[in-house]
Amino acid sequence: MSEICFICNSIPCKGTSTYKFRCELITDSCKFIKEFIKETYGDIVDLNIKKVHILGCEIELSTHCKIEAVRKVLYSVPSSHVMIETLELLENYTGIRS
Ligand SMILES: [Zn+2]
Repeated sequence: MSEICFICNSIPCKGTSTYKFRCELITDSCKFIKEFIKETYGDIVDLNIKKVHILGCEIELSTHCKIEAVRKVLYSVPSSHVMIETLELLENYTGIRS
């Protein structure tokens, strides 16, 4: 039996997508997460931050939001060019800047 989604309040859940992107500085990713929570009223179903080198990280974000909404928040935070250029659905992610 599926449980009620704690974010969209529906059974079944209205559907989430998982996005992945790379971030040169973990501190910049924190600025994104803070702004994303503010803009989407906390629409984060799952969030994983994996350190990939001394300062950088990869983020996997599951949310009900469309990729355009994620991109819009990325544009609003400083030093986000690598995040914007690597943002993809998890299944399409390569980490290569477009
Ligand atoms: Zn949901």
